[in-house]
Amino acid sequence: MRLSRYFLPILRDDPKEAEIVSHRLMLRAGMIRQEAAGSYSWLPLGFRVLKKIEQIVREEQNRAGAIEVLMPTIQSADLWRRSGRYDAYGKEMLRITDRHEREMLFGPTNEEMITDIFRQGVQSYKDVPRNLYHIQWKFRDEVRPRFGVMRGREFLMKDAYSFDLTREAGQHSYNKMFVSYLKTFARMGLKAVPMRAETGPIGGKDSHEFLILAPTGESEVFFDQTFLDMDWSAFDIDYDDVDAVSKVVGDFTSRYAATSEMHDAADYEKRVPADRRVNGRGIEVGHIFFFGTKYAEPLGCVVQGPDGKMVTLESGSYGIGVSRLVGGIIEASHDKDGIIWPESVAPFDIGLINIKAGDAEADAASEKIYKALTAKGKDVLYDDRNQPGGAKFATMDLIGLPWQVIIGPRGLKDGVAEIKNRKTGARENVALDQVVARLAG
Ligand code: ATP
Ligand code: MG
Repeated sequence: MRLSRYFLPILRDDPKEAEIVSHRLMLRAGMIRQEAAGSYSWLPLGFRVLKKIEQIVREEQNRAGAIEVLMPTIQSADLWRRSGRYDAYGKEMLRITDRHEREMLFGPTNEEMITDIFRQGVQSYKDVPRNLYHIQWKFRDEVRPRFGVMRGREFLMKDAYSFDLTREAGQHSYNKMFVSYLKTFARMGLKAVPMRAETGPIGGKDSHEFLILAPTGESEVFFDQTFLDMDWSAFDIDYDDVDAVSKVVGDFTSRYAATSEMHDAADYEKRVPADRRVNGRGIEVGHIFFFGTKYAEPLGCVVQGPDGKMVTLESGSYGIGVSRLVGGIIEASHDKDGIIWPESVAPFDIGLINIKAGDAEADAASEKIYKALTAKGKDVLYDDRNQPGGAKFATMDLIGLPWQVIIGPRGLKDGVAEIKNRKTGARENVALDQVVARLAG
């Protein structure tokens, strides 16, 4: 993509309304624009990151055996009356009336709808276990939307729902999601610590929140340092291996980790030596629940068991804050100059800076590298604009692409380009004909 043809509305100054670094950087880097309280347009750069995160979430859900669907954002109030949540949900639910005076709502979550979909599509125990998920916009009329996409009113969530015949089978479905969450977040460069959680309005029996450490997090967290020392990428396990999955869950849940709501100071001090206690703040990026028959019961989600008797299905629900993650990753990865994207979610792989656009030699060399990197499948943002070098460097650092390739007359005299790693700041001169091999080898 040539910057001269792109839409990247960079802000020079810090926007006053932004209280935390991710919100400030997302506005400055032209990733989002606020449309109403807690509601944002995703501009091209932000949209690319959102899609990358969504795709990682999707791949890991699929790998864990979940099946993707798409349910509408607007739901009928009827189903919610049957589960008893229409009144219970309170003011967070945006209620809508259509032209026939039918009561509708903008879905804050989808337990009722998916349970009804599943009920209609299954007959016998042979139709379970199943896990269905979608990645869809939610609306919650939060009392205090703030921090940009971190606490929006309209936000993108991945929500999965499992259906099983027995509690034990349901526990395995829960465990699979638990492990897939560790992998999902690790692929984004995050260590999201699972913490036992209260079940809240979703209700239920077992629940874990996944939190990433950040000083701006809304939750106070207490956990064992050993979490951060673990290898978070080594969960290449067979999801059908009940014991192997359960072992990983056991390993994580045996260590102390709690948000302030669940924190037990005496237990903490007993189980974690003083030098290993991490007290900080965290951002909730995922939340899983096992709630048994809470929705299947009122909505009549039953199947015929092996013995011919009807069985009410056991369920769980599993959320990931896809749009919140965009902000969360920035909170975890930035410096004074701007964002530092992990490669897996970066909007472009490489930023190519032509310091002297308009100079025939610089243009030709930049063009050649741009085309060659693109041909190798790299996403390149090519700053071909006629602007001072300093402004171009600042923009590239701000938007945080993992690699920069800098081409200018001085280097060209020696036949080299400069390659800069955004994260480490390391710079290196590389022969022009070696640049592509270095970055796309
Ligand atoms: P919170 O405690 O932060 O209000 P929640 O517990 O109400 O969140 P869940 O129902 O667990 O949210 O939703 C699943 C995930 O969706 C959360 O873990 C979070 O990452 C994300 N999420 C929830 N509310 C918002 C919001 N207002 N804006 C952006 N993401 C959100
Ligand atoms: Mg939650």
